Amino acid sequence: NLLEDSIIEEPPLAIKEGGIIKEGFKEDIDKLKRAKTEGKQWLMELEEREREKTGIKNLKIKFNKVFGYYLDVTNSYKDLVPDHYIRKQTLANSERYTTEELNQLADTILGSEDRLYALEYETYVMIRETLAGEMERISRTANVIAQIDALASLAYVAERNHFVRPKLNVRGTIDIKDGRHPVVEQVIPNDMFISNDTYLDNKKNRVAIITGPNMAGKSTYMRQVALIVLMAQIGSFVPAAKANIGIVDRIFTRVGASDDLASGQSTFMVEMNEVANILRNATAKSLLILDEIGRGTSTFDGLSIAWAVVEHISNPKLLGAKTLFATHYHELTELEGKLDSVNNYCIAVKEKGDDIVFLRKIVKGGADRSYGIQVAKLAGLPDSVIERAKEIAEQLLANDITDTVKSISVDTGHKHKKEHLDEVDMTQISLFDTVKDDDIIDELRSIDIGNMTPLDALNKLYQLQNKVKNRW
Ligand code: ADP
Repeated sequence: NLLEDSIIEEPPLAIKEGGIIKEGFKEDIDKLKRAKTEGKQWLMELEEREREKTGIKNLKIKFNKVFGYYLDVTNSYKDLVPDHYIRKQTLANSERYTTEELNQLADTILGSEDRLYALEYETYVMIRETLAGEMERISRTANVIAQIDALASLAYVAERNHFVRPKLNVRGTIDIKDGRHPVVEQVIPNDMFISNDTYLDNKKNRVAIITGPNMAGKSTYMRQVALIVLMAQIGSFVPAAKANIGIVDRIFTRVGASDDLASGQSTFMVEMNEVANILRNATAKSLLILDEIGRGTSTFDGLSIAWAVVEHISNPKLLGAKTLFATHYHELTELEGKLDSVNNYCIAVKEKGDDIVFLRKIVKGGADRSYGIQVAKLAGLPDSVIERAKEIAEQLLANDITDTVKSISVDTGHKHKKEHLDEVDMTQISLFDTVKDDDIIDELRSIDIGNMTPLDALNKLYQLQNKVKNRW
């Protein structure tokens, strides 16, 4: 009430130049304000009177910071200036004067302004001190209002967006019927968002391997599950037709690649750091959302890491956390039969000639293809590049690594029957092997750059380039 009664709605930034206190709050302030506005009126009346008395038609009372108020008379009316006018300043086209009466008036006006500013500031400081004395009560109230605001907002979106009240369980089962992503569904026009089911538990359905092309909706799906679980736990309704949510101790996510080049971390290093952090801190009660682990390195390394991570998280003796694991490595779908708690899902697409249509529906089973080239085509890569990519893909497909992967036995943690990957024929080429014996490389290595002039360096570069050209 004090604030509402005293401070005007939009006070100025400066606190010592008035204009802060509302009318009616303090009588002295109102009086001084009146003197200020009435002063303006008095000046206008004086100006009018002087014009009539002297016959100077364009006589004006003006103000500046140096001279204060003055009467301005242009040169053409100089002869009409009466004797009692006191000259203050001469300009090229006009003269500036004052009079006894004007001086008195100016004192009253300027004095009341100073007094007004001082009084407003004083009042403001007093209000501030009164408030400071109530700080604890105010912050307690603000806290309660913030909670009401958050809960009321959840209720508001629940009502507006048709959320349902979830059931909660301590078994750890996550059972969602027709779940939706609360944000993405808002930006997809015409209610075109496709809802999806989820079932995870601590037994046979602990880990879901999700395959499907880029753009299929894998990330959206995984994030929606994480959001629904989170919303259920904070006491919100959830975007689904029905949901029974097991309490989780934490939700860990590894999504998207965030570079941290400035601190010397490569994308892959950041990714691995995050995975390491998750494996170290997650428990059997956690929910893990892993989006394309192992993508930032060579196919074999990445696949091997992804494979080992799935083995680790699905094993209740090691971790046993409920996990959604999106991947482009179709080879990982081999794990379904090998590990009890791992199940394959994919996001359905329909092939239409050379193109694909995204159905956005999650179904059981693994995708057998990435459709990467089709998606690249949709994104507008030049036709020539697309055609060439298809040719290369066909050649590579002839040496499919899936067969190799099928022969890998898994580490279930129970038996010590582990076949090591290095027993398998890996034909991946190492960049460094192929150039090992090259004399150009040797020459490059032996160059002492620190002791070369720029011209020598240029010559050397020219020589080396010629050697390369002659060879290939
Ligand atoms: P992915 O991770 O498989 O590459 P995203 O999850 O990023 O795919 O989804 C790509 C786009 O598809 C999203 O930006 C969204 O516009 C759309 N999308 C995703 N899921 C759905 C859905 N269930 N219904 C409708 N559109 C969706």
